Amino acid sequence: MKKTGFIWDESYFWHQTGQGALNINSGGWIQADTHAENPETKRRVKNLLDRSKFIKELQQIEPRPAIRKEVEMNHAPVYLDRLKQLSDAGGGDAGEHAIVGPDTYEIALLSAGGALTAVDAVMQEKVKNAYALTRPPGHHAEYEIGAGFCLVNNIAIAAKYARETYGLKRILILDWDVHHGNGTESAFRSDSDVLFISIHQENIFPKNRGQIIYTGEGDGEGYTVNIELPAGTGNEGYLYTFDKVIEPIVDQYQPELILISAGQDPSRFDPLGRMLLTAEGFYNMTARVKALAEKHCNGRLVGCHEGGYSTAYVPFCTLRVLEALAGKQSGVDDPFDQGYHEGPLYQNQVEAINKVLKIQKKYWDL
Ligand code: ZN
Repeated sequence: MKKTGFIWDESYFWHQTGQGALNINSGGWIQADTHAENPETKRRVKNLLDRSKFIKELQQIEPRPAIRKEVEMNHAPVYLDRLKQLSDAGGGDAGEHAIVGPDTYEIALLSAGGALTAVDAVMQEKVKNAYALTRPPGHHAEYEIGAGFCLVNNIAIAAKYARETYGLKRILILDWDVHHGNGTESAFRSDSDVLFISIHQENIFPKNRGQIIYTGEGDGEGYTVNIELPAGTGNEGYLYTFDKVIEPIVDQYQPELILISAGQDPSRFDPLGRMLLTAEGFYNMTARVKALAEKHCNGRLVGCHEGGYSTAYVPFCTLRVLEALAGKQSGVDDPFDQGYHEGPLYQNQVEAINKVLKIQKKYWDL
């Protein structure tokens, strides 16, 4: 019986973002504290897997570094040179809040390589499906600039690699990070062979991206599905989005491989988002995507970790994602589940979805 692959490397936790508060580094009026994108959110995922022994249900796979040619499928050589220079010099900013520390360049190549390792393991049927605990994250990184703690776009590189290496013609990238996956959208805006669906909180980061009216261009028109949801959307609103938008579109697209940009920052405790998903909500979303993968592509599914800034809650949300992928229970209760009904469906959420449907009806039978 094949297991779920789990790709991680100790050096993922060694990428340094410096001291700060929330999303900015210290200086000015900010006393030194821990920057939001710090290793603990992800390290504690691994710790919980070890402590609960759920790690034994997974097949740990060591990532290989991405080679420069692979990263250049999605990034300008001049940008990668700059990233390396900053990294070699001990750090800097490769764009807008794209923090580089010592050795970050090498770690970023290993992070992208983690996504490629996951794709290979799934495509070569060595595992049932796979999850890469990639850090630094990737989905905000554009062709020649980093943004939002992202330096190279792991998932976009993975999709391009899968397309080239395995000759795939229809790849789905589903991005449930609370922020819009602008870098991934840019990478495939003119392509019909990658369907990009981003479900995100309206009007947070980045500015002026992720609006529902943007649906791609040229050959890619109709293959970008932006779903903006109002702050306060929780478990029911997300599942309603799967029912009304995501599942009908994916059923029509019939992907050959599904990639998830798994940001755990729509959780109810995230300091950088205002959504209300519980760990159970992440379980349910993953189970829905897994069912789509089983229906359309022999279960071929890869998750890549993106954001998620609650050091307390990201581990539990990610554990539930892994449970759903593996089809096994850890026996770990969510200690933050206070037993009341979280995130009911409100009228403003239904209205937001209706607006998306109105736009996407032009391209899909909805
Ligand atoms: Zn995010």
